Amino acid sequence: MSSSPESFIEGNLLLKAMSASDRGLLAPYFELMVVRRGETLFTVGSNVSLISFPCEQTVITLIVSMRDGRTAETATIGREGAVGGVVSHGSLPAFSTALVQIGGPVLRLDAAKLQDAKQRSTTLRNLFTRYGDCLLGQVLQSVACNALHPIEERCLRWLLTLQDRIGTEELPVTHELLANMLGVQRTYLTRILRTLQLQGLIEVGRGRITILNRAEIQQAACECHGAVVRHFETVLGAVYDADGRMLFVDPPTQPSPADPARSAETV
Ligand SMILES: [Zn+2]
Repeated sequence: MSSSPESFIEGNLLLKAMSASDRGLLAPYFELMVVRRGETLFTVGSNVSLISFPCEQTVITLIVSMRDGRTAETATIGREGAVGGVVSHGSLPAFSTALVQIGGPVLRLDAAKLQDAKQRSTTLRNLFTRYGDCLLGQVLQSVACNALHPIEERCLRWLLTLQDRIGTEELPVTHELLANMLGVQRTYLTRILRTLQLQGLIEVGRGRITILNRAEIQQAACECHGAVVRHFETVLGAVYDADGRMLFVDPPTQPSPADPARSAETV
């Protein structure tokens, strides 16, 4: 396998969606790195000057930590997206910690290079504005979900979200990791997982959780996963396969309602 950054561009759906000319604006500046589970790409308060594009099965989660050490997931990003200065123009202090959940290749790009390219290309600006809106949608739905929905349903939502991004039934998830995502004690989470297993929805193994029946899990999960999927479909032109895996994005080409030039009309 080649280890050149160019060979991984197609492994990220945002980068894959770019036209050849847009890709040409960015391609010289990508840096390839391989990250491992548990690594942090940036921490709260650190200056985020690089944008990271997870490739293939790499998954990053934006985590908010409280003073007592508890944590909760606010957004989970895989090959459909990017983290770090995506919504802002970069070089601002991070509000969350970006934690690697599933290791793998990541393409990194200086945020200033992306800003330069967005100034030169309306299609590039359209793509990232639309993705920024989807990422914000994920965060907003997480806020509502964490406040309103029971832990069992939140757990299933997160497992579906992860499966969409890595495309396998077997998810490499430890109890500790999942407890940190959901902001609950590990012993409590173990009881929740046992209940879901008794319902025939998942099978819990050592360091892994297997999705046994995605259709039933979608029925049992709260509405939040579906709401985010629909937003990705509408705003980013995301296309999913029958198992929920996002295959590609094909953003509408007309100016997004969330384009900065029209920002006064949006949230
Ligand atoms: Zn929910």
